[in-house]
Amino acid sequence: MADTLRAPIVTILGHVDHGKTTLLDFIRKSTVAAKEHGGITQHIGAYQVEHEKKLITFIDTPGHAAFEKMRSRGAKVADIAVLVVSIDDGLMPQTIEAINHIKGAKVPMIVAISKIDIQGINAKVQMDKIKKQLSDREINIEEYGGDVPLVPLSAKTGEGVDKLLEIIQLVAELHELKGDPAAPVAGVVIEATLDKFKGAIATILVRNGTLKKGDQIMVGGVTGKIRGMFDFNGKVVDSAGPSFPVEVLGLESVPEVGAKLGEEPEEKEAKEIQSLVEKLKAGDTKTLKVIIKADKQGSLEAIQASLQKFNETGEVVVVISKGTGDITEDNVKMASSVKAIVLGFNVKLAPVAQKISETEHVLVRTYNIIYELLEDVEDVVTTLLEVGQLEEVLGKANIIAEFPHGKERIAGCRMIEGEIAKGQKIRVVREGVLVSETKLKSLKKVKDEVNKVEKGNDCGMLFDPNLDFQIGDTVESFRVI
Ligand code: GDP
Repeated sequence: MADTLRAPIVTILGHVDHGKTTLLDFIRKSTVAAKEHGGITQHIGAYQVEHEKKLITFIDTPGHAAFEKMRSRGAKVADIAVLVVSIDDGLMPQTIEAINHIKGAKVPMIVAISKIDIQGINAKVQMDKIKKQLSDREINIEEYGGDVPLVPLSAKTGEGVDKLLEIIQLVAELHELKGDPAAPVAGVVIEATLDKFKGAIATILVRNGTLKKGDQIMVGGVTGKIRGMFDFNGKVVDSAGPSFPVEVLGLESVPEVGAKLGEEPEEKEAKEIQSLVEKLKAGDTKTLKVIIKADKQGSLEAIQASLQKFNETGEVVVVISKGTGDITEDNVKMASSVKAIVLGFNVKLAPVAQKISETEHVLVRTYNIIYELLEDVEDVVTTLLEVGQLEEVLGKANIIAEFPHGKERIAGCRMIEGEIAKGQKIRVVREGVLVSETKLKSLKKVKDEVNKVEKGNDCGMLFDPNLDFQIGDTVESFRVI
């Protein structure tokens, strides 16, 4: 069977108390699909409604953490995101967080200005303020010539809610969301729990194909045979097609939220990495590519989520591969081929991998504290953005004195970090700003010419080309990775 249009999957995000839950409840209660079945609606993490004879699927677990968790696993769940902003508050911290998530996930956005029934506020003034705040965040609403629809509504009186549903459908049509009930089944776990009586229960949102009772499935490493399926009305169903959420019984254990169904995980991931690698080779040099290895899945997720903070203004840090366990030869080889760095958390660098990292000049660092890892990444990102290349600082010295030497001057230095050697690239930095790049013509410890100096030693440096250094400047040796 050919691809057919499927219901859009919509998620609602926004600041706490801005009315997400009330809106989701209002939509569920006021629309035909839920009412006709007449059952007691049951919370399974998502539900479908009918509007103008067409279905819309809402994920009803608002919450950025869940959204981000799914996203960090590479699961694309929602097709459309509705950003709820309360008319009296305007943009708040979690609204901004939500905007970043939505932009990161690259899903179309609709802004819903909620609580327009509130009395005692100047609606026009508030509305204008919010529009300005949105445009400051580069959200280009339609009224200003952009492509983001804005819908004022009240989940209390219901005003504007129909309009929101209509716009969701328009956006969906524009994006021609296709599904094929006959395709191999693909889906994502949006909720999962262990029930005392029923065993492992997972709500799976089918994205393509059809999930059927009796199917043998594997999801995020958990296998099982579907013993029973229920829709959001608690009604038994035998099959679930594209965009349909179902609660599934019969899994052997509880899968993780965001786990994907219907794909061989390794093969799929390998393919994704392959294409990413090709893209990166073609390359944007202002992107820091990282490979993360950690002791636990939870640590990996925490690190990856924290790295997102560097991406608020664009794709700066890209995780090209991640996994649990020690840093292997393969990790380092991959890093070498795409010019990535390898970050390890609570793991070791295998001896063979270490050798390769040295010969291939791959930057590998291991940490026991996430904060230190992030600090290092921040340093690397800063230089990357400033100079457009990835580099590692090998040594640092403070210039504490100067001595005339014919027409030139010798910098009297105290080594404060690492080592500085002849032949390395050298630069002089003043209050964090680059003065000049140079090389070492002469390096002296007391009276002796030496090849390198290490932390804790004093030395004299003669630069070639000569440069206008000052006492208080920092000398750094570095290499480009
Ligand atoms: P959430 O944290 O975003 O899910 O927000 P809730 O849906 O829990 O709503 C927070 C508060 O705002 C509750 O007291 C709601 O009754 C109230 N509220 C939600 N929507 C509206 C609305 O459209 N108008 C008014 N006046 N109050 C609303």
